[in-house]
Amino acid sequence: MKVSRYHHVVSDNHGSYLFNAYRRGLHEVDPEVVAALEMLGTGQQDWDKDLSPAILATLQSEGYVIPDDFDEHARLLQERESLRLSRHAISLTICPTIDCNFGCPYCFEGEDKPQERMTDETMAWVVRFWVPHRSRPAIKEVTGSG
Ligand code: SF4
Repeated sequence: MKVSRYHHVVSDNHGSYLFNAYRRGLHEVDPEVVAALEMLGTGQQDWDKDLSPAILATLQSEGYVIPDDFDEHARLLQERESLRLSRHAISLTICPTIDCNFGCPYCFEGEDKPQERMTDETMAWVVRFWVPHRSRPAIKEVTGSG
């Protein structure tokens, strides 16, 4: 077994939490679970000796711990490509502007964001594109931004 490359541990005064960015799982866990995952991450064989079968099963079913031969990155790319090429699934992101006044340090737009706005023509095109699809169950997600 190995630790998912997409797992994150957040600990504070209130407890410890596992988050898996691939499976989108979030679980509050006891310190021994965090310690066990650290042991597994460093290759220790007896990493799971203090964990109950139920916790082990959850770690596996939620994707925090995966088989050695499972390539999550390849699977993620495969799923993404399958979704991208699907004629039955739409993921739509609408950005009327990227002139955001927040200052998130990780922002992909950097500090000097373009002060551009979506034109009326583009907005009209988005609406014309969206209306025929809006009630289809295959629409995976719509994200508004800006
Ligand atoms: S565009 Fe998004 S990430 Fe960037 S500063 Fe605004 S809210 Fe933050």
